[in-house]
Order: sequence, then structure tokens, then C-alpha cells
Amino acid sequence: MYLCTQFFGKAILNMINITLPDGSVKQIPKGSTALDLAGQISEGLARNVLAAKINGKVVDATLPLTEDADLKLLTWNDTEGKAAMWHSSAHLMAEAIELLYPGVKFGIGPDIENGFYYDIDFMDYEISEKDFPKIEKKILELAKEKQTYQRKAVSKAEALEYFTKKGDEYKLELIQDLEDGEITFYQSGYFTDLCRGPHIPHTGFIKAVKLTKIAGAYWRGDEKRKQLTRIYGITFPKKKELTEYLDRLEEAKKRDHRVLGKELGLFTFSQNVGLGLPLWLPKGAILRERLEQYLKKVQNNAGYQPVITPHIGNVNLYKTSGHYQKYGEESFKPIKTPVEGEEFFLKPMNCPHHCEIFKATPHSYKELPIRYAEFGTVYRYEQSGELHGLTRVRGFTQDDAHIFCTPDQIKSEFNGVIDIVQQIFKAFDFNDVIIQISLRDPKHPEKYIGSDENWEKAENAIKEVAEERGLNAIIEYGEAAFYGPKMDFMVRDAIGRKWQLGTIQVDYNLPERFDLTYIGADNEKHRPVMIHRAPFGSMERFVAVLIEHCGGNFPLWLTPDQAIILPISEKYQKYAENVLHLLKKYEIRALIDDRSEKTGRKIRDAEMKKVPYMLIVGEKEEATGSVSVRKHGEGDLGTFSIESFAEKVNTEISKSLNY
Ligand SMILES: [Zn+2]
Ligand SMILES: [Zn+2]
Repeated sequence: MYLCTQFFGKAILNMINITLPDGSVKQIPKGSTALDLAGQISEGLARNVLAAKINGKVVDATLPLTEDADLKLLTWNDTEGKAAMWHSSAHLMAEAIELLYPGVKFGIGPDIENGFYYDIDFMDYEISEKDFPKIEKKILELAKEKQTYQRKAVSKAEALEYFTKKGDEYKLELIQDLEDGEITFYQSGYFTDLCRGPHIPHTGFIKAVKLTKIAGAYWRGDEKRKQLTRIYGITFPKKKELTEYLDRLEEAKKRDHRVLGKELGLFTFSQNVGLGLPLWLPKGAILRERLEQYLKKVQNNAGYQPVITPHIGNVNLYKTSGHYQKYGEESFKPIKTPVEGEEFFLKPMNCPHHCEIFKATPHSYKELPIRYAEFGTVYRYEQSGELHGLTRVRGFTQDDAHIFCTPDQIKSEFNGVIDIVQQIFKAFDFNDVIIQISLRDPKHPEKYIGSDENWEKAENAIKEVAEERGLNAIIEYGEAAFYGPKMDFMVRDAIGRKWQLGTIQVDYNLPERFDLTYIGADNEKHRPVMIHRAPFGSMERFVAVLIEHCGGNFPLWLTPDQAIILPISEKYQKYAENVLHLLKKYEIRALIDDRSEKTGRKIRDAEMKKVPYMLIVGEKEEATGSVSVRKHGEGDLGTFSIESFAEKVNTEISKSLNY
């Protein structure tokens, strides 16, 4: 009996409990791996496991498990699974390159959002995109060998010895910065790398590869150091997925807002004005103005009050707000005045100005919430390499607003802002919205400003709002700013790309720094909470995302020209003008193509310019006071009286707008 218990006790001691994401618990022998566990569940799953997340940390699926843990198996369907695959692909590409170009040296090779890169010193070898097919072929050859990624802990001395022998000064420099005892190597096939991991079980998962780009990259991002060659690539577990990816890239190229913006005459840039400073052309300005009018109307209905503030502010304003400390060095240099020691800054944010507006008069709790809205233009000095069309610029206009409220009003204010955001997304056909809530890191409450009580109130309010509205939000702990929790809105566009747009951000910091107060029901001074919010983010970024989302086919209510009248000959010019005049009465934006071109040519050109409606007028139409309607991308809709056409357009518009 005694022996038996002991035997039993030991057997249980050698088992560990693994909790899966669905809450179920699996018992496995101590020392088993995540891959073993996957095999227990199903063979099919085991074949697809790329890595594992253990107690929140991503590790090799082949790592022996020694104690009870929470575990998630990661496959290609998980972002972290893809990351493990792509980082492993960087090793594989390095191996292929080392075999083809012996003696090259390696910098760093991380995974990125879509694929991976490796920075390589090619020494005397000449390398260009022409060499890609050769490297890709070698990668696939090695992948077929199902080389395992072997993790090995090494001492600092061993690590230094290995790379000294190999003659790779870049790796040596990286090792110098590491602590002895935390250094690991990964070996796969002929290639050994200094690496923390994690990696996929073996190279056999990599079934398709495309090297996408070659670029120069300074070692450690320092332009005083050597320029290495950065090779970008992407891999997939199926050939079909690579084909689909390349198709999407091709489609994205067609939708590039920089190309379409030029074709549609919306905006331009000039070296003489300066990099990253967009110039809005008449058609673009009309579009932008319409966007602003739309949002102003929505905000007006939601109780926002307009304010206007200057483009610059005294340096002391930004010292109070803390923006000087944050942006001062990296920003445009201060503007001096004839007054000794006086300095102004181009404003990097509108918030400090709005705080001063709040401060200008005393406030009672009865006035709260106060919502100040401004299309405020701000300036930030982005590195020239970071600039990209309208998505990364140096001067941009935020659809900004700041709400000053009591801690108890946070929930209803969040609800109000989300109403606006959802209305907007509907008006632009953004149907796939991803919402992220960023909260405190519960383990480090000392990193955050503001009382525990207030944080809890705000965090609970945001979580409740998300739940009550069924928003299906992703909650990220530890992602909040030091001054408050926030909610971010991302949209997936028509071809599946994710774009960050608006934010709702709670702020306990600025009311403190500006000493903002209101008089409460108790006749005492209280600190308001500030909420920053910008549903579009900025006009520039929003227009860019919108162009790429709709491929230049703007919603009817927004597009610069809603209809184009095409007289089939000069004889009908007068009638075309009558039609134009009538449409104007119905508030429909139209123009006439009065060139002496054939009708077919006029239709083709109107299709190119993406005008939603083409109205063809000739003898029959003039006689009956009608137009022959053709819809962009769809074709003939038949004959309409001017009135019924106008009604059709206006119904279509009010359906998508519903203020
Ligand atoms: Zn690695
Ligand atoms: Zn703000």
C-alpha cells in the first residue's frame, strides 16, 4: 500500500497541466513539447504548428515544457505564427546567400509586417534584383531538406569565438551588447546565427518565396557607418498564397493614392514648397471641403462647438504641455522674433491651444461636457525617408476635438464619439473595422499618471461601452499611454489592407499640467478629464486611405463631379447647358464635355476620370426633355427625365449619409 501511493505520487509529479485558450486543461508528461501536445489533439494540427505562446511569450514549438502553463499553439492563421515563419525565412535566405556568396557578412534579419529582410555586407560581390531568381531557387532547394532550427545556449566567450573565427564584425558588435548567460545560437543546415528565436520546427513549412526589394541600409541606422544591402522577401506555406499575394500587390499598385491623386487632379507636391507639404488642387480642395462640411454637420448635431487657433504658439505653451520636451529637438526649429529671447513653435498638436481656451473662462460642472472642435493644421518634422504621399507628411490638418468632462461622463462621451465614428465609416463604405482598446499594464501601475480610481473608472467605462455595443474589440494590456487609456480604430480596405485611422484618447496629464478646473456641485474646484479624438486622424491620411479603399471611385455624395453631360454633337450643346442648369438647381455637381470628339471617346474618357454618371443627350433626349443615363463601371441604365434622375441621385446620397 505504502509503495503503491509513492509510485502514484511520483507519476503525478511527472505530469504537468497545460491550459489551452478555450480553458480546457491537458495533462502531459514533463519535458514534452507544444508539438507533442498538438500531436495529441490531432495529427493535422501538429503538421501546422509553427510556434507556441507560453504564458504570453512566443517560443519554439519544440521547447520542452517543464511546468504548468497557459499555452496557445500558433499556426499560419496567427500573426505571431506568421512572424515565426518569416523570421525563420530570413535565416533560410541568409543560408542560401552564404552558400552562393561565400564570405559575406550579416547584420540583422527580422520579420516585418509583410515578410522579412536581412541586412548583408556583400563585400566585393555585385548584387541586384537580377540575382533574385537564383537566390529564390536556392532557398526552395534548402527548404525541401526540412532543416531543423536547433537552439543552443552559448556563453559570451563561445559566441565571440565563433564569430571571430567566421570574421563577422557585425555579429561581434551585437554580441558585445548582450549579457553573458542570455545568448543563444540557432543552427539550421549550414547556417548558424546569433538569435533569440523563436523559430518554426523546420524549413519544410516554407513552400513559396518571393524576394521583393533591394535597398541600402546603414548599419544600426547610423548614417556615419557602413551601408549594408537590405534584401526584403516574403514566404508562404502554399504556392497559391504567394500568387494571391502578388495579385493583391498588383491591385494595390493600381490603387496607389499617389498615382490616382495625380490622375484625378486632387493634389501635388513641389520641391520648391518643400518635402511632405501637400498642395491641394481645385478638385482635391473641393473634396476636402466637402469632407469637412460633412464632419462639421455631424459634430454640430453631436453638440461640438467650433474653435479656431493659430498655427504657432509661444515656446512656453509647449513647455507647459510637455510637447517641447517631446518634439522640440526633432521638430522644425523655433521661430525667432525681434524681441530678444522670444520664441515661437509651429504647433505640433492643437491640444495646448484648446486647454488655453478652456482656461480662459471659469466653468461650472453644469456646463460639462464641453467639446471644442477644430480642423487644426499641425507641423511635425518627419525624416525625409519616412515621407510617403499623403500618409506621412510634415504639415497636416487633424479633424481634432477635445472634450472636457467629469470622470463620470467618460462613458457617455465614448458612446457619443463612437456614434460619430460608425456613422462616418458607413458613409465611406468601410465595413471591416478593427477596434483596439489599450489599457494599463496591471503589473506596473507606477508608470502611469493619475489616480488608480480614475483609471479604473475610465478603463471600465471603455470596456463596458465596447461590450454593450458588441464592438468585438481587442484589449491590449500595457499599450495605454502613460496619461490615459485609449481606443483605436483600424479599417480593412477593399483589398484587405489594414489602416490605422481615428483614436479616442483619455488624458489625465494635460488638465494637470495646465491646471484646468471646474467648480463642482460641492462648490469646490475639480480637475476635468480631457478626451482627445480624431475620427479621420488627419484629412491628408484619410483622403489617402479613402482613395486606396475605393480605387478613386469616391462615394457619390463626395466625388468632385457627380455627372458629366455628353452631347452627341454641337447641335445639342444648348440643350446640354439647359440640363446642367437644371441639375444645379437640384444641387447635383455636373459638367459638360463639349469637345468635338465622338461619343464613344467621350464615354471612355469619362470612365477613366471615374465620373459616376454619364448623361448622353441628342435629338431624342432634347425632344422629350430627358437624358440617357450610363453608370460608371456598370453601363446603360435607360432614359430618365431630369427630375427623376435628380431624385435617383439624391436618394442614393441620403442612403449613405443619414445625418
Ligand atoms: Zn532567428
Ligand atoms: Zn489632442
